[in-house]
Amino acid sequence: MMAPDDFELASCVLATGPELPPIRGFVQYVVGAGGLYVRAADGRIEALVPVAPSLRPLSGLAMVEPYARLAVPRVPQAWLDSILASARKAMPSEAMYQLVADPLARNSYGGWACARPAQLASPGAVTFLDLAGASVDLHSHNSMPAFFSATDDADEQGLRFYVVIGRLDTRQPQIAARVGVYGHTMPVRATAIFDGLGCFVDTFGRCRQCGRRVGDGAAWWTEYDLCERCDEAEAEVNA
Ligand SMILES: [Zn+2]
Ligand SMILES: [Zn+2]
Repeated sequence: MMAPDDFELASCVLATGPELPPIRGFVQYVVGAGGLYVRAADGRIEALVPVAPSLRPLSGLAMVEPYARLAVPRVPQAWLDSILASARKAMPSEAMYQLVADPLARNSYGGWACARPAQLASPGAVTFLDLAGASVDLHSHNSMPAFFSATDDADEQGLRFYVVIGRLDTRQPQIAARVGVYGHTMPVRATAIFDGLGCFVDTFGRCRQCGRRVGDGAAWWTEYDLCERCDEAEAEVNA
């Protein structure tokens, strides 16, 4: 145990070589050649995500590769299948689910327990009583596409994986996933969280409207989820 005096809420480190030192504090800011990153780990999730890019490489610093991984086995696909069945029943309302890495929990399967927390849901929103130990928050967008809304951005402030499922009224529902490190997020493949996706189509690297590929997967700094054509169409609607 660390003495309270030694506890650091936040620390920072300059990336000068290929290996980063162990994380000190609750959250660690990393400055690398590409800009500013934030890094944290809680024994279940380890992630380093971009915060702000530098327009030019910062000289003397090493490149930093963002990452997001579970330190425990991935969530079995069976949980995703039963969440889909449950969320379809809840339509036209949204629904919220939380996954806790706890092999000893009463309804644990594959090391994970799934809860449908107490919630107030409508077709366009869901508010819920947060389960503090959750590592994955998943909500449904019923028949709408799976994407992260501005409301989701405001709500999702923990060290967790966040997942949205959508188009549940079709045979190929969508899934979108990201990791969040205290408000900073990065898109990830849903297979970083689940060991199988069943009938879900992952929107990672694809336009959420038309499904066309966008970006090259290495575009860490922005959440591209609309292709140019759909982006222009949306801008026209909003103009
Ligand atoms: Zn949402
Ligand atoms: Zn598109």
